Amino acid sequence: MGDDCIFCAIAAGEGPAAMLDEDEHTVAFLDINPWTRGHALVIPRAHSRDLLEIEDADLAATATAAKRLAARLKDRLDADGVNLVNACGAAAWQTVFHFHIHVIPRYADDPLQLPAVPQQADPDVLAALAEELR
Ligand code: AMP
Ligand code: ZN
Repeated sequence: MGDDCIFCAIAAGEGPAAMLDEDEHTVAFLDINPWTRGHALVIPRAHSRDLLEIEDADLAATATAAKRLAARLKDRLDADGVNLVNACGAAAWQTVFHFHIHVIPRYADDPLQLPAVPQQADPDVLAALAEELR
């Protein structure tokens, strides 16, 4: 367990949370500051800081649990879609440093907007970048 980690406390049943689901490796509960109705978080029981630190098996279990929860939220809340979001690092808006996947039900009339305006890239720039990354 991570020292002073609120999500470890929730996974251990020691922190208050509106629990939705759990299995051997994961726990799911409602986010206390929801972006939409039903916004939930899925976490591995085992503490890891972020995407780059989590064990592959825990990541797979958490992704599978997120898929299960997405289906349930869509079904029970009559959502029109679902976003899965993960923040890795403070620069990416991570605020709780126990790996988690946001499962955010989306509604056709909800007020969420993309936080950036995508701009078409120069194909030569994309090709050079891809070369650098392969
Ligand atoms: P992130 O910014 O991706 O690290 O997201 C952390 C999320 O955890 C935020 O959406 C918070 O609202 C949520 N959160 C923080 N503490 C709790 C808590 N005790 N119970 C439920 N959600 C929490
Ligand atoms: Zn933790």
